[in-house]
This record gives sequence, C-alpha cells and structure tokens, in this order.
Amino acid sequence: MKSIRLKEGKERSLLRRHPWVFDGAIARGSADPGETVRVESHNGEFLAWAAFSPSSKIRARAWSFTEAERIDVPFFAARIAVALAARQLFDIRSDGLRLIHSESDGLPGLVVDRYGDTLVAQFTSCGSERWKSVIADALLAQTGLSRLFERSDASVRALEGLPDVTGWLAGSGDTAITIREHDWKLGLDIASGHKTGFYLDQRDSRARFAAYARHRRFERVLNCFCYTGGFSVAALSGGAAQVLSIDSSAPALAKGAANVALNGFDAARASWLDADVNASLRRFRQDGRAFDAIVLDPPKFAPTVAHAERAARAYKDLNRLALSVLEPGGVLFTYSCSGGIGADLFHKIVASSGADAGVDAFIVERMGGAPDHPMTIAFPEGEYLKGLILVKKP
Ligand code: SAH
Repeated sequence: MKSIRLKEGKERSLLRRHPWVFDGAIARGSADPGETVRVESHNGEFLAWAAFSPSSKIRARAWSFTEAERIDVPFFAARIAVALAARQLFDIRSDGLRLIHSESDGLPGLVVDRYGDTLVAQFTSCGSERWKSVIADALLAQTGLSRLFERSDASVRALEGLPDVTGWLAGSGDTAITIREHDWKLGLDIASGHKTGFYLDQRDSRARFAAYARHRRFERVLNCFCYTGGFSVAALSGGAAQVLSIDSSAPALAKGAANVALNGFDAARASWLDADVNASLRRFRQDGRAFDAIVLDPPKFAPTVAHAERAARAYKDLNRLALSVLEPGGVLFTYSCSGGIGADLFHKIVASSGADAGVDAFIVERMGGAPDHPMTIAFPEGEYLKGLILVKKP
C-alpha cells in the first residue's frame, strides 16, 4: 500500500472530513492514477484513504476517513446503497433524479442520474475511473435496472488527464427519454443533452415557478437561457398565458417546442427566440416591452473563484436589464450556478443591479439545488446553484 505524507500544518481540512488534498500540501509520495493511497500527517498518523490523481491540482480525493475500512468492491456497494437510501428521505416528484452527487455522497468524481429506467453515469476523477466497472456492477445490481450510459465528457476530465468517453456501459437502445416531473413531462437525450442530459437540479425551482404562475396568473413570461424549455413548460402548466423563451442554441429551442407539444399545450402560447439574452433584454428595454415574470438561469460564468470578478459583472448586467423590463409587482427568478460565486456575493451582485436600475425588490424566497443534489456540512463546495425569487416593488 502506497502512502503520501502531508506537510506539517496541512492536515486540517482532512481532519474536518473535507475530502480534497491539493498538490501543494504533499511533502512526499506518489502513486498510479486512481490508486488508493494512505494519506498521513507529517508525523505519519493516518488521515484518510484516498484516490491519487497524478496530474490534477486536487492530487488526492478521500474515499474514507476510517483506518479500518478497505477500499474494495464491498466498500463501493455500501456507499452506493447509502446514497440510494438517502433519496428515499428526500421529497422528489420526478422519475428523473440524481442518485449520486459526488463528494456529497462520499464518492468523489462520480455523478449518477436516473432518467426513468435508464442510468447515466459521469466519471470525473482518476479514482472513480479506476473503479468504473465495480461501480457500474453495483449500480445495476442495486437499482435492478439494465441500461447504464456513460457521459464522461465533462471538461474537468482533462484536468485529470482523462480522455472523453461516452456510450453504453450496459444495455443499449434509444437515448431519447421522457421523464415525468411534477405535473408535466420533459423529453431529453442522454447522449447529447447538457450534463447527463438535463438540468435536474432546477426541479424545485420549476415547481415554484408553476406555483407562482398559478397564483399570479402571469400574462407575459420571459424565460432567459431556456435550454429545452423546462421553466417554459412549468409556466404553461401553471396557466401562464404567453411564454417567450430565449436561448442561443437552435437545437435546444427545437426541443423546447417539442416539450410544449408533448404536454399538449397550444403552441401559440409559446414563442422561441434564437438570440443572445443580453442583447434581447436591451432591445426590449428600448422598445418599452415589459414582462410580469422573468427567469434568468444563465450558464456557469465563474467555475472557480478566480473567474468571480468578470462573472460578477456579467451577472450584474443581466439582472439590471431584467429588473428594468420587469413590471412593477412582477416576479424574477434569478440564478447563478457558478461554484466561484457564493450565495452572499450573488445577493450583493443582484442588490447592485437593483441600485443601478433604480429598482427595489422583495426577496421572497431563496433557492438552491434540488435535495437530490445535496450539500453537506463537510463539503461547502457542494453549493453551486443559488437563486433568488424577487418581487419588484410596485
Ligand atoms: N434554464 C435551463 C438551463 C439553462 S442552461 C433549464 O432549466 O433547463 C444555459 C443555457 O444558456 C444553455 O441552453 C445555452 O445554450 C444558453 N446560453 C448560453 N449563453 C447564452 C447567451 N449569451 N444568450 C442566450 N443563451 C445562452
């Protein structure tokens, strides 16, 4: 068994059960990609069993903080069983859900989503890559399913020195799938969709948006960065009269229109704009066009804190424009999925957007990722998605 020795004073985060060991914390020791190593303090005390990643800045990711534990086939079966059991404890109204959320489920570098009877897995570290077949076997055995698709094409794979890999690990067939979420259906494609196929993390926010549409009887909804129209379908399901959805991806918009049809809504209630959101909002402002509800769910502008400053400017601009085309009394659902922008900073950014737009708003709810994308107290980095539901002061 190989071991890596930490520099003095670098033990603290592992002692708090935070699973990452950065390259700069290591005094000596090395191993093969994904190999299990014993991580020791500067004086040789056991800290964790971890998977080694020779080319990543996150040089090792802890599997276990218990010295007596072995990192073997039963270990992965047990971790997966705990993650699956946890999903029974959460309130999830969908047959599309995240079964394993990486570090938060004690399985760094592994994401597994279930879409109906199909599993989709993403292996993003040398450790999870090394145990791929063991993990796949355990997933299939414990869920009783027979279809498992691999979507290991996330950009973080490159940081681990791993090539992109996609395709069936078990089973075969059509990669187009329809899930049932809340009161609606959503079509997606696990081979070509974003992430593992869809933004499951916004499930609870889509339900809230439908609830507001029902309560406030929205006339004119604007869904910015609509992707395949999840929030648009939610608004229509809640009874919104008209929904305009904007995205810069024509294929995503086509799927959005298909999702509206799939739910039997009149196509005339939905319009689709292939355009840049920022430019569109400026044009609406010039034209005096206003909306009584807006969703702003942009892509990740700041993957890490290093990108935070530029990203903050982009978020500020977008929110300023959105607030300026929102009717008094209107509702804004605004999000950041940037790991590099914390909830406090996001709040401050939106506050300065309001100040610039000369608008004040009530913060009526704070949103996060759905509970099957859990955060844990040991791993604050798990909090990437944050949202505010605002009502513009009349
Ligand atoms: N709200 C969506 C997820 C949004 S993902 C949901 O609930 O499913 C972000 C989307 O923003 C992607 O579909 C991407 O095509 C789009 N996008 C990125 N930059 C854009 C821009 N400048 N203008 C319009 N759309 C953009």
